[in-house]
Amino acid sequence: MNRIDLRGSRRDPRGLLPRAQLDVAQAVEKIRPVVEAVRDHGYAAIREATEKFDGVRLERLRVPVEAITAAEKSLDPNVRAALLVAIERARKVHADQRRTDVTTQVVPGGTVTERWVPVSRVGLYVPGGLAVLASTVVMNVVPAQEAGVPSLVVASPPQASNGGLPDPTILGACALLGVTEVYGVGGAQAIAMLGYGSAGRSGADLADDFEHCAPVDVITGPGNIWVTAAKRLLQGTVGIDAEAGPTEIAILADDSASPVHVAADLISQAEHDPLAASVLVTDSPALADAVDLQLAVQVSATKHESRVRESLSGKQSGIVLVDDLEQGLAIVDDYAAEHLEIQTRGARELAMRVRNAGAIFVGAYSPVSLGDYAAGSNHVLPTAGCARHSSGLSVQSFLRGIHVIEYDEAALRASAPHVVALANAEDLPAHGQAVTARFTELPSSGGAA
Ligand code: NAD
Repeated sequence: MNRIDLRGSRRDPRGLLPRAQLDVAQAVEKIRPVVEAVRDHGYAAIREATEKFDGVRLERLRVPVEAITAAEKSLDPNVRAALLVAIERARKVHADQRRTDVTTQVVPGGTVTERWVPVSRVGLYVPGGLAVLASTVVMNVVPAQEAGVPSLVVASPPQASNGGLPDPTILGACALLGVTEVYGVGGAQAIAMLGYGSAGRSGADLADDFEHCAPVDVITGPGNIWVTAAKRLLQGTVGIDAEAGPTEIAILADDSASPVHVAADLISQAEHDPLAASVLVTDSPALADAVDLQLAVQVSATKHESRVRESLSGKQSGIVLVDDLEQGLAIVDDYAAEHLEIQTRGARELAMRVRNAGAIFVGAYSPVSLGDYAAGSNHVLPTAGCARHSSGLSVQSFLRGIHVIEYDEAALRASAPHVVALANAEDLPAHGQAVTARFTELPSSGGAA
């Protein structure tokens, strides 16, 4: 892996860690025609893009409910059991995220209530390109259900190996969660379909019984650069959770960490995507050398060796040497990794000082892979530095807080001078008059003299 030696450097930590130049902005320009074609022509454009990018000729959009039920029946028993554990743990964590309405008595006779209202319909994207992520069904669906979203739909790429339907494990996971509206569409065309619907601008021109996808209000879920770019393009037309693009792992470790574990964890995320980033930050040159040696052994034995090699040797991955853990902490904090592991003495205390990360994994026995599947935490997390301003997927992602304001006459009368003073200061006197009109008679608008 690349080595970056920051020992003795007093440089500002900003931007010192390597990051993939994903250039989502460039990808946005490449997929813009696909997104616009889906907006204008609906199913015909989805079909064309699917043939081009997935090599599948779509016969339908919506997966028949019987296929979802059948997929559940044919789930491998171990996979089924693991999915049920993942669902149960995720449900425990996400149920605790539910919010209750709060009423604040601001002044006597004046209240503001914050109502938490779920969005009406959401589109949940489940990747199915390089890997088919059944676990992502759990991570998307559970928080949406716990938030109380009444209508939710899953989209995932069609697989030639499954007759043009999404992967059977993904369909089985949908069945276990009671999801019946599933579309076999992936990539930017799926995000566009969720955002605009599949009927196109001119409306449905297919048979009456063709099962179109109606547009959603919010789209969530991870994906590759094309999915991420499409989410950026659709933002505003719909809500999106965050840009959850190609995976990143940063590990802050000292000489107490096991090089075997550190190397295994770096490889585990590199396995996702040649664009994935794996970064080790350590104050121990001995650990750095030992991890390099371990990588040489473990990478050769891993199934997706070429993808892993490409990711680990990319400029976005590397081993960073620092003077001490304080410098290391400042650097990983600035990097704002999607996943941050802390494998040091006193890891919990360090974790509590981190300000920027999608999720933090503490100590030797909390690897990112646990969080990918069965920790109960959510694995849909912000990438590319977005953890500085965004959170991972949660119940909150599917809720809107609506303020309900209710003042009585006395409370408004007492507030009037403040409203008038600020309205006049902003040269918006009609704002003040909207209040004072309730307490003074305005001159009559005319009529016969
Ligand atoms: P994917 O479903 O995201 O993408 C596959 C789709 O990409 C295909 O359906 C195809 O239509 C489209 N596509 C492929 N090549 C294209 C091209 N040249 N132009 C336009 N569209 C094209 O599946 P994937 O590729 O396996 O990617 C999954 C990604 O999700 C990985 O990068 C992984 O790291 C990431 N991930 C992120 C998180 C997170 O929370 N940040 C979690 C899990 C996975």
